[in-house]
Amino acid sequence: MNQEYRVLLYYKYVAIENPEEVTTEHLQFCNELGLKGRIIIAAEGINGTVSGTVEQTEAYMNYMNEHPLFSNTVFKIDEAAEHAFKKMKVRFRPELVTLRLEDDVDPNVQTGKHLKPQEFFEAMQKEDTVVIDARNDYEFDLGHFRGAVWPDILNFRDLPQWIRENKTAFEGKKILTYCTGGIRCEKFSGWLLKEGYEDVSQLDGGIVSYGKDPEVQGELWDGQLYVFDERISVPVNRKENVIVGKDYFSGEPCERYVNCANPECNKKILCSEENEHKHLRSCSHECRVHPRNRYIAQHGLSNEEVNERLLAISEETTTV
Ligand SMILES: [Zn+2]
Repeated sequence: MNQEYRVLLYYKYVAIENPEEVTTEHLQFCNELGLKGRIIIAAEGINGTVSGTVEQTEAYMNYMNEHPLFSNTVFKIDEAAEHAFKKMKVRFRPELVTLRLEDDVDPNVQTGKHLKPQEFFEAMQKEDTVVIDARNDYEFDLGHFRGAVWPDILNFRDLPQWIRENKTAFEGKKILTYCTGGIRCEKFSGWLLKEGYEDVSQLDGGIVSYGKDPEVQGELWDGQLYVFDERISVPVNRKENVIVGKDYFSGEPCERYVNCANPECNKKILCSEENEHKHLRSCSHECRVHPRNRYIAQHGLSNEEVNERLLAISEETTTV
């Protein structure tokens, strides 16, 4: 692989007095540099993932290091063959991660203990320990730590309520939390402490750092890591490869994500190329017959061709 590009992932919780001004300034700098990616700036800090050439990303990290607010930001660096984004977006938001807590948590004041990959690896295997995945369903479905608990929620902001409803599973336990790069757990683990749980730790640097760690090499991670750029997924476990993703239609092992072709649905589904064509890349019959179905438009299918495929699906489901 030609490794002239890099993808950076980073965050820093820091009080910013004039976040909107900082947003405008930051966007201008990134554009001048030629970076691409997505950055969120809020009064509580910065969270970003950007791609660029080695020179561009190096210049960006230097800029951040000399910045009065953003120095000491920890960057996770991935080698890449090309840009991982199409555009450069820097947005001002009320929160870095949407938790919508009635009583907000400042991770600089209260957060779970940070465990290095090796420490997290050992802690996971201890008794009376619960490992909580603090990510979304489609992220968990593609890969997760072996034995991790996944809260049955559709959005990260529903996590606190889910914990309250399932209290008995966590009381008196050692709690470990993890997420992609660590930012969600800074708040979530802080919230758990505030909620009265005493033994709460988080994976320092997130799954991304865990996969790069030379000692653990991603051990005990099953599947792939979902990432929020054009790569969609990256490997974590370098010792063994277990597939946990399942084809939405057949249930067979699968790690290929597509978005439902109904633009109003857009649900992420794991499916093979074969099943994508068979099911018109749609998660349901309603989505298949949606007047703006993108698959049908892309492949220029006639009404007859669409009906033929719908018939094939209905025949298959009635004979099973
Ligand atoms: Zn759909």
